[in-house]
Amino acid sequence: MKPERTPTEAASATGSERGPVERRKILVVEDEPDILELVRVALEAEGFAVVGAGDGELGWALARRERPAAIVLDLMLPKLGGLELCKRIRGARETERIPVVVLTARGTETDKVVGLEMGADDYVTKPFSPRELAARVKAVLRRAYEAPADRPHEVYEKGPLRIDFDSWETRLDGRRIELSLREFELLKFFVTHPNRVFERGQLLDLVWGRDTFVEPRTVDVHIRRLRQRIERDGSMPELIVTVRGVGYMFDERGLGV
Ligand code: CA
Repeated sequence: MKPERTPTEAASATGSERGPVERRKILVVEDEPDILELVRVALEAEGFAVVGAGDGELGWALARRERPAAIVLDLMLPKLGGLELCKRIRGARETERIPVVVLTARGTETDKVVGLEMGADDYVTKPFSPRELAARVKAVLRRAYEAPADRPHEVYEKGPLRIDFDSWETRLDGRRIELSLREFELLKFFVTHPNRVFERGQLLDLVWGRDTFVEPRTVDVHIRRLRQRIERDGSMPELIVTVRGVGYMFDERGLGV
């Protein structure tokens, strides 16, 4: 099957300086051939064309030359590390707007945090489900390139909290809150199902999807991070409350309305 190769004009959101990008081309920077192959197969199954790079220096060269629509980036790379590469991508005009999904090893929480601070748009923890990775890539592409629709944005607004589901923007007291894709999806799920208690397993099924390899503890980690971002006092949550022995609930009363 021949991948679609039509160059697409960059959507207005990406600015004109960047020029056209190949909407279906994804650069994957990964030094382990088996993982590169796994990612390639998953992305090609979704109709993407994949360009692979086995080290950071080659990844940097291809990021500029190939003008990919998105980059999947392993962090542990020979020649030039993934974090350094991510910083370069964000620092150069021709690549600064290319969305980056970082691959991290299991249990390296710092890598994820540092990756997001370096400007990655999302991360996937190894071992990952290829379908999950493809879904994340599609989501970052949607966020980066979809032209704003004519219809009004779908918005949740109560008290100090405002969430725009179309532009993926979250504001609290007017202040913009930076959330990872998963944190955003979790918050979106909570605000659209308020005042109901969900067990960890339910949240995993409903927010992460059944076919992902994540432990229930992952839910706690994301909830902790989400609380740090949206609660007035992360240690005394009023919005995402723990219902002891059961799970978590989004309590709209915490918004003071
Ligand atoms: Ca590696």
